[in-house]
Amino acid sequence: MKLIIASNNAHKLVEIKAILGGLFDEILSMREAGIDHETLEDGATFMENAEKKAREIAQIAGCCALADDSGICVDALDGAPGIYSARFCGRHGDDAANNRLLLEKLKDKDDRRAHYTCAIALVRPDGSVVRAEGYMHGVIGFEEKGSNGFGYDPLFILPDHDGLTAAQISPEEKNRISHRAAALHELLRQLGKEE
Ligand code: IMP
Repeated sequence: MKLIIASNNAHKLVEIKAILGGLFDEILSMREAGIDHETLEDGATFMENAEKKAREIAQIAGCCALADDSGICVDALDGAPGIYSARFCGRHGDDAANNRLLLEKLKDKDDRRAHYTCAIALVRPDGSVVRAEGYMHGVIGFEEKGSNGFGYDPLFILPDHDGLTAAQISPEEKNRISHRAAALHELLRQLGKEE
């Protein structure tokens, strides 16, 4: 069975292949599958967005498709920025401005707890769907530290890692403990149960 990943992000593809490789004959990115398609991410939740992306690709390709949607949820901000994580500051993908805005919004807050969420949906050609979510918990620091990772990682302190941020641990370690890894393992568990 063939699986198309609704992404061209090389890091995600490596991670997904490492965890789900044994279940599919072939795992391809959209580019590798020759699909050029942009999904309008207008869902109200991470899962709605992931499922919409996967469903559109499964329909176009006529095979299984997997999509994810992720972001950071901050307790003291009632879960914001959430699904708007990539464009918290108003511009898409401006990590530095997003981090500045997050520090500004938390400047008087004692509660710095936050978690990353990753929602994954796998849609089959018959329209059936398997859903999985994973989380990584931490606290938001007061300044950026580290140069690995991306997005909010320099602010995201991992309590079980000696106070290091997600940008200070190695990429291998982050892939081991990440919300995406947790969601993929949960998906694997659910697919295993079906066999
Ligand atoms: P995407 O779902 O991978 O496109 O991620 C959406 C946004 O959530 C990113 O642009 C980041 O702002 C944030 N985000 C998701 N996962 C991570 C992570 O592992 N580290 C840092 N930021 C993340």
